[in-house]
Amino acid sequence: MIERSIFREDHNIFRESVRRFVEREIVPFHAQWEEEGIVPRELWLKAGEEGLLCCTVQEEYGGLGLDYLFDVVVFEELWRAGASGPGFLIHTDLVATYILSFGTEAQKRHWLPKMVRGEAIGSLGMTEPHAGSDLKAIRTKAVQDGDDYLISGQKVFISNGQMCDILVLATKTDSAAGAHGVTLFLVEGDRAGFSRGRNLAKLGMKAQDTSELFFDNVRVPATNMLGSEGNGFKLMMTKLPQERLAQAIRSATVTETVIEWTVDYTAERKAFGQTIADFQNTQFVLAELRTKASVARVYTDKCIELFMQGKLDPVDAAMAKMFVCELHCEAVDKCLQLFGGWGYMWEYPIARAYADARIVKIAGGSIEVMKVIIGREMFKGRLSKK
Ligand SMILES: Cc1cc2nc3c(=O)[nH]c(=O)nc-3n(C[C@H](O)[C@H](O)[C@H](O)COP(=O)(O)OP(=O)(O)OC[C@H]3O[C@@H](n4cnc5c(N)ncnc54)[C@H](O)[C@@H]3O)c2cc1C
Repeated sequence: MIERSIFREDHNIFRESVRRFVEREIVPFHAQWEEEGIVPRELWLKAGEEGLLCCTVQEEYGGLGLDYLFDVVVFEELWRAGASGPGFLIHTDLVATYILSFGTEAQKRHWLPKMVRGEAIGSLGMTEPHAGSDLKAIRTKAVQDGDDYLISGQKVFISNGQMCDILVLATKTDSAAGAHGVTLFLVEGDRAGFSRGRNLAKLGMKAQDTSELFFDNVRVPATNMLGSEGNGFKLMMTKLPQERLAQAIRSATVTETVIEWTVDYTAERKAFGQTIADFQNTQFVLAELRTKASVARVYTDKCIELFMQGKLDPVDAAMAKMFVCELHCEAVDKCLQLFGGWGYMWEYPIARAYADARIVKIAGGSIEVMKVIIGREMFKGRLSKK
């Protein structure tokens, strides 16, 4: 495999400590959390104490002011261990990033130190029951009332929704203005009128809470607005490449991991007097996957570099997400096949990885939406329909 060149020695040392943390504090309990549908709050506090949350937040806001690769290390180590429960990525990569990038000084000083310590858990509330891919169609309303806004509506599929203390919420302040009517607010989890619905039962990612959220005339001060009125859609669009990159990082990591598990398993398991690895079919399947995994990793790392230089454009990010997430789903399917019946058993990590994988083609912009973005760029100015 081409050696990765983006990490320095300090990242490698950090990786060792994250790996120990994951093995000690997460792996032994993850199956229990899957049954409970949620990870305990104490895990967030421990992760905060260990410096695993929001690594890039500057010291003045209670963080360590490290570079993005430290966040990448945390995400990779979680995915490598199959630890899909802790919603650190949404908290760190999305919510904290929104506040850092678009928040007022007061918002940053209030929320970021708590988020770094794991005392305040973040969620991102965009999707509604009738509007996911087409975000400008959201209906949750924010109506001005003196110095406040009153928020009413409903969100669904919100990760960390049962536990969140702070929510970046997409609303409509002008329902007739389409994308220009979208405004973001920070909504505290203890606001009157805010309630949490079901922790939804899912195909995979069973330890991560995913919720319905309800807003019944939730009063928030105008100072809770994130960005300015009507520019929420634009702000969300600027963060999408980062979100898609994170998904590619996840998928590149899981793809490599399931290939490793499968090499180990098939080298031991026997049938017809030889190991499963001795069948040429096994070698061919794994050789193809490994080749694609290597290509995916190099492309993803290049996107990480571009992102850190402020040069990752939305089309490159969409291509990363599309290619690597599709590979991820292909890899879990083909690897599970090589485990035979044992691969279908929940006690085997490959079964969990298979169930966890399916979401990567849907959330954070579906595969089809990635193709729309790529195709539009290819035919820029040449399509008959706008
Ligand atoms: C486990 C999980 C966690 C999630 N976490 C969050 C979260 O924390 N916060 C949040 O806000 N949301 C979250 N989501 C929601 C997620 O982002 C949406 O499910 C996703 O954006 C797709 O929206 P949808 O489900 O409404 O599907 P729809 O938009 O209804 O799409 C249905 C199908 O139509 C296709 N389609 C849509 N538009 C086009 C088009 N233009 N061209 C071609 N095909 C198209 C889609 O690709 C899909 O296949 C989560 C979802 C899940 C399942």
